Amino acid sequence: MANSPTQTPVKISKIVVDREACIGAVTCVVVAPDVFEMDNENIAVVKPDALKVDSNKILMAAQSCPVQAIILYDETGKQIFP
Ligand code: SF4
Repeated sequence: MANSPTQTPVKISKIVVDREACIGAVTCVVVAPDVFEMDNENIAVVKPDALKVDSNKILMAAQSCPVQAIILYDETGKQIFP
């Protein structure tokens, strides 16, 4: 189970919210309020200090999104989620 998808293999260095996909479910904000907040269009946005948050928590928040609107990249620019 070393490569279980629930584990973070690398440090997350970029977080993107797909604004077209986001349905404003707010789950990501509930899971990681230090990483995401809702804007005035009820779409999630990434907070300025988001990358200081533990990568596992960021990954958990991305996994909690019902429409997989949160896209994560590692330090090499490789997409690691979804
Ligand atoms: S969990 Fe997904 S759909 Fe819900 S607010 Fe966050 S990014 Fe948007």
